[in-house]
Amino acid sequence: MTATTIYCRYCHQRLFDIVPGTRGRIEIKCSRCRKILRVTLMDGEKNKDYLAKE
Ligand SMILES: [Zn+2]
Repeated sequence: MTATTIYCRYCHQRLFDIVPGTRGRIEIKCSRCRKILRVTLMDGEKNKDYLAKE
């Protein structure tokens, strides 16, 4: 299993990695463009490199 990398949808800055099985909602401020992003994580096996949606 590999970690999932979450990217900013606006500037494609790499935001953070999550481990498989992580679920729930995360709110994060992009360190580059400073927009607030909300990420909803699915079941681990469905996660893949992911552009955060607002
Ligand atoms: Zn950004």
